[in-house]
Amino acid sequence: MSSHDGDSTRTDQLTFQNPVTRYPSISPPKQDQPEPGLDRDLEPETDRGEYSYRGTGRLEGRKALITGADSGIGAAVAIGFAREGADVALNYLPEEQADAEKVCRLIEDAGRKAVPLPGDLTNAGFCAELVDQAAESLGGLDIVVNNAGRQIAVETLEELSEDQWTRTYETNIRAIFLVTKAALRHLPAGSAIINTTSVQAYSPSPTLIDYASTKAAINNFTKGLAQQLAPKGVRVNAVAPGPFWTPLQVSDGQPKEALPDFGKSTPIGRAGQPTELAPAYVFLASPESSYVIGETLNVNGGMPTP
Ligand code: NAD
Ligand code: MG
Repeated sequence: MSSHDGDSTRTDQLTFQNPVTRYPSISPPKQDQPEPGLDRDLEPETDRGEYSYRGTGRLEGRKALITGADSGIGAAVAIGFAREGADVALNYLPEEQADAEKVCRLIEDAGRKAVPLPGDLTNAGFCAELVDQAAESLGGLDIVVNNAGRQIAVETLEELSEDQWTRTYETNIRAIFLVTKAALRHLPAGSAIINTTSVQAYSPSPTLIDYASTKAAINNFTKGLAQQLAPKGVRVNAVAPGPFWTPLQVSDGQPKEALPDFGKSTPIGRAGQPTELAPAYVFLASPESSYVIGETLNVNGGMPTP
C-alpha cells in the first residue's frame, strides 16, 4: 500500500513519510477493561500492522515463540514475523482467545503456520511445557520473544499489596527466566532471544514501583545472559518501548485520568502504534544483527535514555 491513498494509517513501514503524522495523536476516551484487556474492545483501535506491515523475507523459514502474542506489541511482532517468513507459536492467557484467533488468521493469511498455546506464565511448570510444545509443533525453535507482561498502577506503596508485587514479578521476570532456561536446549547457533523491557526501566513512574523495577531487571538479565550465550551463537537483546497504545493501558496500567493525554509528552508528540515496534524485533531476530548482542533498542518517540 502506498501513502497516496490518503489514509496515513495504511502506509507501509517502508514508505518515506513524516513520523509525526504517520499516525494521528490519539486522545483515548476514559475506559476500563478487566485484566488482561482485549484489543477487540480497545478504543480507538490500534494498528498492529494488519494493513501496513510489508515483509521483505528477512525471517524466511524461522520458528518463533512469542509470549503475549494475542494483542498489542506481541501481536504486531507476530504479524511482522509471519510476513517476514517465520512460523509462529503464540502464548497468551485463555481469556484472550478471541484476540489470539484474529492474529492466528493473519499469520495464516501470510502463508505461515500459527500455533496457539494458551496458558498462564505465572505457573512455573507451564513455562517449560510451553517451550517444548512450541518446539515440537514448529519442528524446532530459533526465536524466543519474551513479551508477556502485567502493569497495574497503584498510587502508594501502602496500597501495593504483596500479592500484586509477587504476581508482577512472576509474570514479568520469573517467566522470562523459566522460558529462556527451557528454550536453551532447543536453540541452535544463530538463534535470537528478545525480551520486552520498557522506558520505565530507567524513568520509573511513581505509580509503577513493582512494574518498573521488573523492567530494570529485564534489562540487566538481558545484558548478563547475552555474554553467557554469545560464544554459543545465541544472541540476547531487548526492546524498550515508550508509550504504545495497547490493552495494557486500559486494564489498570494507567490511572484513568492519564488516558486522554497518553503519549503526548514524548518529543514526537503522540503515542506509538504497536506495528511501529515490529521492525525493531525483526531486526534483532534476523541474521543481519549478528554483531548486536546485549543491546536494548529504545523505541520511544524520542525520550532520552541512558
Ligand atoms: P498487551 O496487554 O497487549 O500485552 C501483554 C500480554 O501479556 C497480554 O496480551 C497477555 O497475553 C500477556 N500476559 C499477561 N499476564 C500473563 C500471564 N500470567 N501468562 C501469560 N501471558 C500473560 O500489552 P502490550 O503493551 O502489548 O504489552 C506487551 C509488553 O510490552 C509487556 O511486557 C509490557 O510491559 C511492554 N511494554 C508496553 C508498553 C506500552 O506502552 N504499551 C511500554 C513499555 C513496555
Ligand atoms: Mg492480550
